Amino acid sequence: MISSLHRPTLAKVNLSAISSNIKQVQGRIPQAVKTFAVVKANAYGHGAVAVASHVQRLVDGFCVSNIDEGVELRQAGIRKPILILGVVLPDEIALARDYRLTLTVASLEWLEAAQQKQLDLEGILIHVAVDSGMGRIGVRSLAEANDLISGLLKAGGQVRGIFTHFATADEADDHKFQEQLAFFKELVAGLDYCPEIVHASNSATSLWHREGIFTAVRLGLVIYGLNPSGCELTLPYTIKPALTLESALVHVKKVPVGTDIGYGATYTSSEEEWIGTLPLGYADGWTRDMQGFDVLIDGQRCPIVGRVSMDQITVKLPQSYPLGTKVTLIGSSGDQTILATDVAQKRGTINYEVLCLLSDRVPREYD
Ligand SMILES: *Cc1c(COP(=O)(O)O)cnc(C)c1O
Repeated sequence: MISSLHRPTLAKVNLSAISSNIKQVQGRIPQAVKTFAVVKANAYGHGAVAVASHVQRLVDGFCVSNIDEGVELRQAGIRKPILILGVVLPDEIALARDYRLTLTVASLEWLEAAQQKQLDLEGILIHVAVDSGMGRIGVRSLAEANDLISGLLKAGGQVRGIFTHFATADEADDHKFQEQLAFFKELVAGLDYCPEIVHASNSATSLWHREGIFTAVRLGLVIYGLNPSGCELTLPYTIKPALTLESALVHVKKVPVGTDIGYGATYTSSEEEWIGTLPLGYADGWTRDMQGFDVLIDGQRCPIVGRVSMDQITVKLPQSYPLGTKVTLIGSSGDQTILATDVAQKRGTINYEVLCLLSDRVPREYD
């Protein structure tokens, strides 16, 4: 989708907040631990190329979710290791070689399929995924891990890492986390050949479970300055949200009592009211369930009234404001703040989703 540059709706991304969040985490984990910045899904909506370019000197590598995201970074000149966290089908091995992308291999079946198709694994960089209880991808036993690694090595693959992923590192109850950790530790201890990089830590693990760090961390949400647990666990140190979402009033009017607003006429003014219109809607990722939530204008909370349309929303104003008055949808105004986490609570979802849903129609501006 083309970015809409000529309307006053934009996401401002503070790149130095991202680098300072990375340094905050790095200052609290052992120095020898490698840092991978997770920039999948366009860096959680912040812009993968801009983020990776800005932080590449601070980190040891990047994680993305698929081969195209890796190719995008290489084409933008990123040279550090790039690990693809998802499974790439063997058919794309040649592309991984061309772009020096590290593949996640998650099963013996994958290796067998590659060999059946006579695909050349020589020199391909590989991390092996272990399913310790997440149930998504990865080998599920020590025997399979050993068979897979020896098969990959025999085929000329360069097995550089082995990793797992925790399902509940962001929850107060840690019994499942401990089960997964014990499974992974025991598996790693039993390997015939242990790759150099052993990793299990997402943001939540790096924040709340030092024992799950091993030799590298994969930092996603924490570098964008948000709490991976939402509101469940307290952050052990301060991080700074990197993204603000802003728009502006493009239409302001005084309506008499009894005026319907928006599709379905779900809102009717109960008195004489000032109503403002903003140029963003669900096509920008400001979903329909934001009706009833607030925006910030001039340090005040103003409710979204009426349905959220595809391209416009309407808000109730405390007074008249001139066209072009700035509106904050995520961020601070005066002493008021709206976090992506607050938006997520209103929607019954997680802050990750709020960021990722901001569509390409919203331009990203960097400072
Ligand atoms: C997305 C992802 C991460 C990063 O998760 P955060 O919670 O954002 O830190 C780490 N590892 C894997 C396997 C992932 O899919």
